[in-house]
Amino acid sequence: MGLHRRQAAAMLLVLVTSYLAVRTSPGDAGVSEWWLASGIGACAMVISPRRHVPVLFLLVAVLTWAGNHLGGRAAATGPWLGLGNAVESYVIALLLTHNWSRSATLQSWADLRRYFIVVALGSAAPALMSVGLSLSMLDRSLPVIAAWVFINHLGCNLVLMLMVARRPPTPQPAPAEVLGHVAFLVAATAITYAPSNQQSVAFLLTPVVVWAGSRFPSRWAVLELIALGGLITAFAQAGIGPFEVLSADATLVSVLAGMQSFMATNVLIALMFATGLALERERGLAMVAHQREVEAATSAALEREREANVRMQSMDRAKNELISTISHELRTPLTSIVGYVELLEDDANLGSERRADLLGRVSRNADRLLALAKDVLRIAAVDEREFMPDKQLIDLRDCVLAAQDAAVVPASRHDELKITVEVPNRPVPAFVDAQEIERVVFNFVSNAIKFTPGAGSVRVWLATLGATARISVEDSGLGIPQDDQKRIFERFFRTDVARQNAVPGTGLGLSIARSIAEAHGGTVGFISHEGEGSTFWVDLPIALGTPAR
Ligand code: ADP
Repeated sequence: MGLHRRQAAAMLLVLVTSYLAVRTSPGDAGVSEWWLASGIGACAMVISPRRHVPVLFLLVAVLTWAGNHLGGRAAATGPWLGLGNAVESYVIALLLTHNWSRSATLQSWADLRRYFIVVALGSAAPALMSVGLSLSMLDRSLPVIAAWVFINHLGCNLVLMLMVARRPPTPQPAPAEVLGHVAFLVAATAITYAPSNQQSVAFLLTPVVVWAGSRFPSRWAVLELIALGGLITAFAQAGIGPFEVLSADATLVSVLAGMQSFMATNVLIALMFATGLALERERGLAMVAHQREVEAATSAALEREREANVRMQSMDRAKNELISTISHELRTPLTSIVGYVELLEDDANLGSERRADLLGRVSRNADRLLALAKDVLRIAAVDEREFMPDKQLIDLRDCVLAAQDAAVVPASRHDELKITVEVPNRPVPAFVDAQEIERVVFNFVSNAIKFTPGAGSVRVWLATLGATARISVEDSGLGIPQDDQKRIFERFFRTDVARQNAVPGTGLGLSIARSIAEAHGGTVGFISHEGEGSTFWVDLPIALGTPAR
């Protein structure tokens, strides 16, 4: 329902309840027994924006006056009573919403205290107004009138304002609980109002009210309380049950023992129970939430530990694999060396050609062993983060030329393999460890030579692109099968082609090249097509300044 509709409905209820309250008030009492109109007006003000309040104030005043008058009260008293009710609604709404700056809440003991005080203050307004009137019109003592009106309004307001005060959510009650509650309500009412009952057992209704107020959603409780209030009023009027109809000669004590104070007391107890229970529930929920957090943190820590264990296990496995690969790689050339040396030792009559051939083999295997040892040391240094390049400002062109010089093409292949080098005609400054970068280029060039059997070409060139220098090595060789390409930078990885064609190598060169590039803030990359050739490159940041030559 939209705001305007709710406001209109509330104003209609103000009129109807005022009328009914007067109509159902005892003939000689002069005051009503169950005055809901002001509370309804206050609820309408609480849910409305501040700018609507003056109009609502006026409407509450006019409609309660109209209800009073229609119900049979003298027209002259109407404006005063109307004003009293409007002030009451306004004071309650103003204080409960902190001057319309917050919503009315009932979530803590402090809220509850404030709720009682505010409702009591509001209820005092019509009491004062009635006192004023009673002086002139009603033949009653002041305290009785004041207490009567005050308690009547207090009881109704305490119930009604629950409609608009935000309360901690109550869990939806189970159907069995609702049934049990209704049965208890009916039984308590029946016993209280049994015609034969001479004893006042109205207190039986107290647990019913407390039960509804503390266990059921606000609206249910409010509706039940209003219905109960109406019922008690009707019975009281008919002269049945514990609450006698208020009479003209009522005393203060009889007023306080009447149905209004009974209702107000019940609602007070119910609210105190409800707030206590809600706070208890909240504390319980907070504890559960805290416990969940602790559990989540514990299981996250366990998970981290498990992951660390897995990581350590896989590092351990990698280390073992590395050791067994290295020993295997070392054993192959060593076995060859030992074999050739034995041959040389055993046969003193070897021809000089055969001897030279065997010595050449020993020397090549020794070189391979040396290269392997160096590579392994380098890998170990990288792993231990001991690799610290000695950076200087140099001209990358020198690096490229030096590396190309170092990568010698075997004499037997001079005719079939063509190597070209292109460098820009201006210096390309870079802040790098020249030896290391040479090593990268050397690795690329020697791979290109190794993997380009027969006739072919190797092209080495240096180019700049913005702030990056790229050294590329292109060959027209075997290329790398698609499936192997993603593993090419792995340590000890060699393609089947490399193994089958007995191309010498350790499978460490590219992995070392990548760590050197990364230690210089650079990257390595390649493209390759099987059977067509490959291009490997290293990108390095260009430095400012002119390198010394
Ligand atoms: P190595 O050359 O010592 O075997 P690398 O790490 O330098 O080790 O290279 C790893 C593998 O990558 C080589 O064994 C080879 O299979 C492949 N590869 C490297 N460069 C080329 C190339 N230019 N052409 C074809 N295959 C290559």
